[in-house]
Amino acid sequence: MKRIRITDLFTQKPIGEKVNVKGWVRTKRGNKQVAFIALNDGTTIKNIQIVVDLATADEEQMKLVTTGACLSVVGELVASQGGGQEIEIQCSEFEVYGTADPQTYPLQKKGHTMEYLREIAHLRPRTNTFGAVFRIRHNMAMAIHNFFHERGFFYFHTPLITASDCEGAGQMFQVTTMNLYDLKKDENGSIMYDNDFFGRQASLTVSGQLEAELAAMALGAVYTFGPTFRAENSNTPRHLAEFWMIEPEVAFNEIEDNMELAEDFIKYCVRWALDNCADDLQFLNDMFDKELLTRLRSVIDVEFKRLTYTEGISILEEAVANGKKFEFPIFWGADLAAEHERYLVEEYFKRPVILTDYPKEIKSFYMKQNDDGKTVRAMDILFPKIGEIIGGSQREENYEKLAQRANEMGVPEKDIWWYLDTRRFGTAPHSGFGLGFERLLLFVTGMSNIRDVIPFPRTPRNAEF
Ligand code: ATP
Ligand code: MN
Repeated sequence: MKRIRITDLFTQKPIGEKVNVKGWVRTKRGNKQVAFIALNDGTTIKNIQIVVDLATADEEQMKLVTTGACLSVVGELVASQGGGQEIEIQCSEFEVYGTADPQTYPLQKKGHTMEYLREIAHLRPRTNTFGAVFRIRHNMAMAIHNFFHERGFFYFHTPLITASDCEGAGQMFQVTTMNLYDLKKDENGSIMYDNDFFGRQASLTVSGQLEAELAAMALGAVYTFGPTFRAENSNTPRHLAEFWMIEPEVAFNEIEDNMELAEDFIKYCVRWALDNCADDLQFLNDMFDKELLTRLRSVIDVEFKRLTYTEGISILEEAVANGKKFEFPIFWGADLAAEHERYLVEEYFKRPVILTDYPKEIKSFYMKQNDDGKTVRAMDILFPKIGEIIGGSQREENYEKLAQRANEMGVPEKDIWWYLDTRRFGTAPHSGFGLGFERLLLFVTGMSNIRDVIPFPRTPRNAEF
């Protein structure tokens, strides 16, 4: 007999038919005559109720049906007698594929803390919460590919191993095959990389942007979507050492086009979630964050507020003058901390904010310089609850300006000669941005810790599983 997925069972509702479902037991309850098993197969947040007549069921086999056990069940689908569910299966036979000892199975019925569930990340996808989060994660990935594909962007693959630390976006993880117990050093005590795998020092990438720019200068509009790595030792609820990033890069786009693209993009993703993940979002809304659905809808409806960094600083300074307390000092030239970003978004404008034209000192060398000599054409998108969700810019297309800025910021020309070549041969205005996939998921799921929107988080001192 062919198995039917539980999600299909709920949409097709073949009442009166004999069906076969397979899944994991969430709960079992009942009395001496009848047992009710809630079975889940991961295809939906919904469990199907299995009704077992204990007069006919094998008593020994029934004992093996405990929370976490895996079953195959055959029976007739009927309209449910009891409240709480529409349909149920009158079990005629079942097989226990795998037992789960109640003494040792870590996921018993009771609500567990998120911290505890992180310690059993190998099993947490079996909870309602993580089932919902990972289904949403998949759907968001599909939304992203669809958005760009529909607009004629090409999905471009950039390397994960890189030999240049020029992005400057964060501390890098080194990649080596050298024997760390027996490192060869030259007379100055410097490590000799000549015999290392790549013949030079190599690391995991912090961004695919520079390579994406090369592609944009040939294919027009491209995007990357892959893992990035940052060894920043920041133990925060919004930083991972390994996270996924989406980086579109578009030839001929100026900063205004870039903002428009970014705003359309995020709205498209949020709308996609509302359209395709309704059950899971409703669950997360009910269980974790009663404002979730309202917040998602509100982002789609409003126009993001656009203002310059300088204007943003004035607002923050005024807030401080009026008694607002921030942990970190705020002044023109300072990088905004999450608390500042959230003040602008949540308290002042009450909508997402796009902040532009940052001081050049706190931004990367490749951003297009404004005529004022002080600021660059950067744009960060700030979101409620998250703070920075997107960082982007128009890129400096002028060879001399770019080379000079790289030099000032200590980026060796020998590392980026290939990047500078795009400005020597057929240069063009172009722009792009990076969206942290997990930051988007934080927003869409309402989870409060970034460790809970990626299956196996990598953070300082943690690489289990
Ligand atoms: P932040 O100031 O929040 O550390 P950043 O300025 O270092 O971010 P960018 O280098 O601009 O970030 O990276 C682009 C995007 O990648 C960010 O807008 C954010 O969404 C995401 N991002 C950056 N660092 C991390 C991280 N450690 N973990 C998860 N996402 C990240
Ligand atoms: Mn960072």
